[in-house]
Amino acid sequence: MHDTLPLLHKIRFPAIRRRKLETLQVNVGYRCNQSCFHCHVNAGPNRTEEMTAEVADLVLEFLQRQKIAVLDLTGGAPELNPCFRRLVHDGRKLGAKVMDRCNLTILEQPGQEDLAEFLAGERVEVVASMPCYLQDNVERQRGKGVFDASIRGLRRLNALGYGRDPDLALNLVYNPQGPSLPPRQIALEADYKRVLGERYGIVFNKLFVLTNMPIQRFGSTLVTADEFDSYLGLLQNAHLEANLDNVMCRTLISVDWRGHVYDCDFNQMLDLPMARGQRLRVHLTDLLDDCIEGNAIRVAGHCYGCTAGQGSSCGGALKEPAG
Ligand code: SF4
Ligand code: SF4
Repeated sequence: MHDTLPLLHKIRFPAIRRRKLETLQVNVGYRCNQSCFHCHVNAGPNRTEEMTAEVADLVLEFLQRQKIAVLDLTGGAPELNPCFRRLVHDGRKLGAKVMDRCNLTILEQPGQEDLAEFLAGERVEVVASMPCYLQDNVERQRGKGVFDASIRGLRRLNALGYGRDPDLALNLVYNPQGPSLPPRQIALEADYKRVLGERYGIVFNKLFVLTNMPIQRFGSTLVTADEFDSYLGLLQNAHLEANLDNVMCRTLISVDWRGHVYDCDFNQMLDLPMARGQRLRVHLTDLLDDCIEGNAIRVAGHCYGCTAGQGSSCGGALKEPAG
């Protein structure tokens, strides 16, 4: 696989600094029951990196000491980590809103039969990958059988109240199939609601539209196809200065399975750690009583993926462009 970081380092991006920390995004490991083509984590069934109980304890301690509002759990398939349910339960007890970045097919995996009920019982916000409402497009990107399993998963979540009960948010995630900018979020959300509602009786709250990041598997494919420079050019040409104010790294940190800290999940995947003073690799233990407001964020060319057009973050578009 091609490493895109040396290419991304050559591209200048405006300097940005942190604001008050609101979200702790925790990547509990890279194991996944799927191996999607666009996966920026390069996750799959054979990955062995996994957060231990000790690091999970540290995450909960950090959450408590820093009074973090949101615990955002991701992976891989985060539910496969043995500490997942404890993190959810104890995170909720500490008063945090807990989000699960769920691939939907995990709901049918052996050992996860009660997962949907668990998530509903803990009032966890489910953020579910659903890269298209058309079967062919989903299966080209995510593998055969994934579309039907995802529909079954969404129906199960709906039956538990997800997408209907205000305490049970169900949000879907879309990303383009190839090296193009995503369509407008509002318009695509309306299409998703219409098609999934009419054909399958599915309801959900919001669609998060994400830009593909030129890193990991997707970035490597761009290099192989000689499309890396043109895709970066597309992102840079669509850069909107106003989006710099709202990029997610202003208020979020990303923690990896070992407890190392990054300015966002993409930087984690590039192994571009958060820098703090003289420390070029920060661990969560270093930050237990630290206030990182004002800290410089480590940026490179991939950051244009967050600021192009309507902008992109873990919560979808940053703002709708005028017109
Ligand atoms: S389901 Fe998500 S984490 Fe798993 S391989 Fe696909 S994109 Fe990656
Ligand atoms: S990729 Fe996006 S979220 Fe990450 S550091 Fe760059 S601008 Fe911030």
